[in-house]
Amino acid sequence: MSSNRFGARRNAFLRASLFALQADLGRRGSGVIVRSGEPRFVLRKLIKETKADEVLALGDYSEYDRQRNVAVSTLVPFRALPGQAVMADPVLRRPDGVPYSVFTHYFRAWQKLRLFDRSPTEFVQPNFANIDNISTEVLEPGTGDRNFRAGESPANNLLREFLRHRVSGYGTGRDLLDGSGSSRLSPYLRFGVLAPTMLADDAEIAGAEQWLRQLAWRDFYFSLLQRHPRLAKDNLRLNFDEFPWRNSPSDFDEWAAGETGYPVVDAGMRQLLAEGWISNRMRMIVASFLTKHLMLDWRMGESYFMQQLIDGDLASNAGGWQWVAGTGADASPFFRIFNPVLQGKRFDPSGNYISRWVPELRGYDARWIHEPWKSPFPPQGYPPPMVDHDFARLRALDAYRGIGRR
Ligand code: FAD
Repeated sequence: MSSNRFGARRNAFLRASLFALQADLGRRGSGVIVRSGEPRFVLRKLIKETKADEVLALGDYSEYDRQRNVAVSTLVPFRALPGQAVMADPVLRRPDGVPYSVFTHYFRAWQKLRLFDRSPTEFVQPNFANIDNISTEVLEPGTGDRNFRAGESPANNLLREFLRHRVSGYGTGRDLLDGSGSSRLSPYLRFGVLAPTMLADDAEIAGAEQWLRQLAWRDFYFSLLQRHPRLAKDNLRLNFDEFPWRNSPSDFDEWAAGETGYPVVDAGMRQLLAEGWISNRMRMIVASFLTKHLMLDWRMGESYFMQQLIDGDLASNAGGWQWVAGTGADASPFFRIFNPVLQGKRFDPSGNYISRWVPELRGYDARWIHEPWKSPFPPQGYPPPMVDHDFARLRALDAYRGIGRR
């Protein structure tokens, strides 16, 4: 259930979600059995105890999932079911059979096929078996998460609230740095608390094409992971194997701690550290800073995000990092190097988000909050920029152009 690659916050949310499910099923006269160990042996024992006919599991698209399913199928009757993605099989193909690698084409096909080849919303007619006599490890209620209450009913409330009040402004709201303009449903989608097919239907009914598009990105990254099991390890563009990533553990530490001297980057990294969740815009800004301003390997950022994120997902995380770094199948153009000052001014014009997360700049003159080093009165205790933007931009462009020529 847990691994060192994933952080404590993500594991706590998973456990709290299981605890909530246990309570929900308990009200229907059933429950959740928790057992740890090697899946095939644990399941073989459990199937004997419960006299179950078959083991059904929600499939995902990782190599671990594939290998585990093969191993389990040798010992017990087993079926992996679709449901993690909107599409039953997220790998969509062109008429000549080649899978789509460019998102715009993928999305067009996805929209056409969505209603025909989608994952079923309900797999089986549930038979709420009484499991009173079957032993289970005790699930601790835990403290849960301050910002993401575990369970289907809080998730549904958040969804309804988003659809009622915020989806209509999503086109611009999604870029608000504090995340108040998007649904914030990612942890619930990650752990199967809400079905993505249901969200896609809601998006369609609300006429929210932009939002629907994001759910398609999620499927697109699942398709990449299915096709490239080493998505989190290998550059999809092989010429990047020669990319001159810098080696600077101290630069990485400053980025991770939110001590870069660029207020918007530091605010994002500090929110990530404190809450385990940041908005998509913030993820792009901090990822661009690590890979382009600091020229540190995207895999370091990918792995740090996995440790911190409550919604850490192998496909979307590795896919997002490769997109920003420019190493992915369908990636951000190499010359797109976010200017952190302009990003801050554009998406946090009042500086409220920065003030919230960077106490050294709280109450600081809004004219200078995005570039305090230019102020006649630089703030006390806040570092100067760790690298000059113009210098870093030219250095990255040079390296990226060099790779492009290979
Ligand atoms: P909304 O905007 O409300 O979108 C609805 C749902 O669509 C989200 O909950 C999410 O499941 C999906 N979605 C939205 N944007 C994207 C996207 N760009 N790519 C894939 N799916 C998307 N998402 C994760 O769920 N887990 C991760 O580990 C993760 N790591 C990322 C790392 C980087 C570097 C980047 C750039 C993006 C990453 N994303 C990840 C995608 C995206 O940032 C989050 O899904 C989104 O911010 C979650 O907020 P929300 O639920 O309010 O999304």
